[in-house]
Amino acid sequence: MSILSGKFAVITGAASKNGLGKATARLFAEHGATVAILDLDQTAADEAARDLGEQHVGLACNVTDRDACHTAIHTLIERWGQIDILVNNAGITQPVRLLDIEPENYDAVLDVNLRGTLYMSQAVIPHMQTRKSGSIVNISSVSAQRGGGVFGGPHYSAAKAGVLGLTKATARDFAPDNIRANAVCPGFIATDITAGKMTEEMNAKVMAGIPMGRAGKAEEVAGCCLFLASELSSYVTGSEVDVNGGSLI
Ligand code: NAD
Repeated sequence: MSILSGKFAVITGAASKNGLGKATARLFAEHGATVAILDLDQTAADEAARDLGEQHVGLACNVTDRDACHTAIHTLIERWGQIDILVNNAGITQPVRLLDIEPENYDAVLDVNLRGTLYMSQAVIPHMQTRKSGSIVNISSVSAQRGGGVFGGPHYSAAKAGVLGLTKATARDFAPDNIRANAVCPGFIATDITAGKMTEEMNAKVMAGIPMGRAGKAEEVAGCCLFLASELSSYVTGSEVDVNGGSLI
């Protein structure tokens, strides 16, 4: 039997063609899950869901809009009757230096990465509580741990560090309901967020900081999400798992 068979998973920001969310959706579907792809654009979400197979669902949902999060989850509960897994993956970066961050930069980055994670968790957790079962995987970043990254500004580091705190609080508060929450901290992963945006000099500098000497692949982050989403990690909660080629060694 596949490790996610009979499970229903919601993944935010999963319509991006080469992104971590899409790779995670694909891997979950391959392991038997029925997946809902939530993203900003309905057509893109539909297409991404269709790529996985006809039982999967695409829904437009801006995670910064609390009503939209609740409406999307309500729609899925009506259809599926349960949600077993939530992956809070939607995120944006902005390469803005600390002294240049304007209030609107700060709001935009904090809203998608951190507020969105809270809103989706608030929408899904009551349904998981009813069934006394659930796994939440929040996508943070090595930027949270190092205080900076290649593309994300300091506000991105702050938002992703906030995601770590929120993950641990979620894990602590809902452990009695058998709901686990863990964070994944990807390092430098080749996706649309990173593609074609680096000079050769920047690339060489980044690679020099990665002991494995290469960028990660979206599928390598997806593998970690699969572990945390499944019963293979049934006693793992409140953890942050690094997927970074050794960048923090
Ligand atoms: P991506 O840009 O390919 O995908 C992000 C997706 O989020 C897009 O489909 C986008 O439409 C969606 N999105 C943006 N705002 C949204 C909103 N308000 N509501 C719903 N969806 C929204 O990026 P990616 O590289 O796949 O990144 C996925 C996650 O991984 C992000 O949280 C990112 O911060 C994190 N991350 C990426 C890397 C990397 O190197 N690529 C490293 C560390 C962490």
